[in-house]
Amino acid sequence: ATLPYDDDNIFARILRGKIPAKRVYEDAHALAFHDIAPQAPVHVLVIPKGRYVSWDDFAATADDTEIAGFVRAVATVAREQGLVEPGYRLLANVGSHGGQEVPHLHVHLFGGRALGRMVA
Ligand code: 5GP
Repeated sequence: ATLPYDDDNIFARILRGKIPAKRVYEDAHALAFHDIAPQAPVHVLVIPKGRYVSWDDFAATADDTEIAGFVRAVATVAREQGLVEPGYRLLANVGSHGGQEVPHLHVHLFGGRALGRMVA
């Protein structure tokens, strides 16, 4: 079972504007901002506006409009960041073995250099 959503998690606070973030994109479904500890020249996090703990929670419980909106928003951010032609990487960590630290679904967008093969 998925953990209950914690309204005090750091990304919930960013969504409410209580904590500053370098925002790069926002629409009805999603917000995107720079990761505070970038692992690549471009490292942006894209989050849904709804209260979803993880990718698993989102896929299981969000309605189709929200899911479609979020997927399109992730792709739009990648395009706006100029990543599509050279290419980029998407990553969503889920749960403890996935190394997920913040319990609000976020997709990492990495780009700006050749990222190499991902082994795990
Ligand atoms: P996770 O391991 O949960 O997939 O990734 C969490 C990410 O959030 C990490 O890459 C971390 O650097 C980033 N992060 C944690 N706290 C903050 C914050 O307060 N602001 C921003 N912009 N990023 C954060």
